[in-house]
Amino acid sequence: MAKGVFTNESTYKKFLEDGKEAEFDRLFDEAVTRVRTGFGKSFPLYIDGEKVYASEQIVERSPIDGIVIGTFQKATREHAKAAINAALKAFDSWAKTDYKQRAAVFQKAADLFSANKFDLAAALSCENGKSRYESVGEVDEAIDFMHYYANELLVNRGFVRRTKMTASTAKVNAGFQGAPGSAENVTIAMRPYGVFGVIAPFNFPVSISVGMSVGAMITGNTVVFKPSSTDSMSMLTGLKIYELLKEGGVPPGVFNYVTGPGSEVGDELVANKDVAGIAFTGSRSVGMGMIAKVYGNRMQKVFVVEMGGKNPAIVSRYANLDDAATGVVSAAFGFAGQKCSALSRVYVHESVKELFVSKLIEKVHTLKIGNPLEKGVYVGPLIAESAYKRYAESIEKAKASGSLLYGGNRANTGMNGFYVEPAIVELRQDHELVHKELFVPILCLITYKDIDEAISMANDVEYGLTAGLYSSKRSEIKAFTERIQAGVAYVNRAVSATTGAMVGLHTFVGWKDSGLTGKGTGSKFYLPQFMREQSISVTK
Ligand code: NAP
Repeated sequence: MAKGVFTNESTYKKFLEDGKEAEFDRLFDEAVTRVRTGFGKSFPLYIDGEKVYASEQIVERSPIDGIVIGTFQKATREHAKAAINAALKAFDSWAKTDYKQRAAVFQKAADLFSANKFDLAAALSCENGKSRYESVGEVDEAIDFMHYYANELLVNRGFVRRTKMTASTAKVNAGFQGAPGSAENVTIAMRPYGVFGVIAPFNFPVSISVGMSVGAMITGNTVVFKPSSTDSMSMLTGLKIYELLKEGGVPPGVFNYVTGPGSEVGDELVANKDVAGIAFTGSRSVGMGMIAKVYGNRMQKVFVVEMGGKNPAIVSRYANLDDAATGVVSAAFGFAGQKCSALSRVYVHESVKELFVSKLIEKVHTLKIGNPLEKGVYVGPLIAESAYKRYAESIEKAKASGSLLYGGNRANTGMNGFYVEPAIVELRQDHELVHKELFVPILCLITYKDIDEAISMANDVEYGLTAGLYSSKRSEIKAFTERIQAGVAYVNRAVSATTGAMVGLHTFVGWKDSGLTGKGTGSKFYLPQFMREQSISVTK
């Protein structure tokens, strides 16, 4: 890709536009067969480019059918410390590597991801139960991140700028603010911090892991990467990322792959004074916990943190109800409601409630639940039993003090996994389920009388990630865009009410308790978060 030019990978769209959908399906199906033949093996950690084995292991199973994906190492604090030391050792030379060379490494890696996209997508589907479209789309997003960040580094010339002051003809005996002086050449550079701990969630294990890791490394930091390894696991795709980045030219020690529990490996990254920064995406409780721990202990650490969501959409009486129903269904039930951007609250004007609900149910009814590796299946399994328990408990709570409009049962798919029906529940705004992130396919429906009330209710949660509005009335669109407290807001988007941000087109950023820095991924303000500014003045 030429400097300054960024285009999205958009694989499925290109196949469709070329009339090659059958080929897309064939490539994915063949990749699934290929990837599955590699299952059941034992995989190491990679520290300083070397294979490392621990005394205990973790078995990762597919949420689709419980089949063993592989056995991974259960790293301890000692392994985490060894990886931190390796990253520390590699930092000096990586930080000094010319920025154009660093950009070239990740451009090459992006091309390798692109060449292997179907295998990576197949591994992702097996590992976390996404449909082929979601998985290929996620791999595309990882490729987009690499190209976008490489481009940003090049366009900004490595984030270095030079200024100068010419010598003054006036002379003074003592200095003061603004005093005339001799000629100064000043270099203002953004410099990497050092070692970053990259702690990733299970639900976008390819794109988010790549986005955070590449953000840290392309700016000159080194990384200890910990994929999700407990309960909901993403160690297989984590390993594939390691392998492709290595092949792309990331030197030993710059990117270390350490699987192990968050409470041990993750906590060591957080607590260790040699880790200068943490890039974390995950739940609010874990994210806030690590920030409190570091600053509570009066430590210095930089955090680039993205957390949960409780995302609303408003369906006005002036909405195109067909578009709204399509967008709401896709946002609420894609990947079984396990996206941080998933829609979980829909505010419907009371006058259109009945019609909208009937359209919604008609659409939800057509969603196929089952093995996500099969074409046409829309709702795959929940990631783990804990998620199923959360679903079942929430349904009981909704039934007790609200009404269940659709779904609510375990789906009978004949598969050895936790499959559930998408559920729609009608609740009052003050219900606990309207405020808590559930991360399962439950959509809370609340009626409203006027748009200001709807926007206030949409804002009345601790989170502020994504939000949507369906309305053709200009004054409502204006009120929504001016008042909505969300980092990512969409108006009248039929493809999805709240999900599906594209690198370079949108930014993806959490406000309030959904994030920390107010700067989003896939946008021009992302990379500076991984660097600190330094001004060096040399007097001639
Ligand atoms: P999670 O439970 O918070 O786990 C995220 C990561 O943190 C995992 O790698 C986990 O490791 C690790 N971890 C757990 N306890 C830790 C500790 N004490 N110290 C350090 N690390 C620790 O989140 P998840 O269930 O994987 O992902 C879902 C959550 O992520 C949802 O809340 C979702 O909204 C959020 N999310 C947000 C975004 C966004 O961009 N805003 C994107 C995706 C997901 P182990 O699994 O090995 O314990």
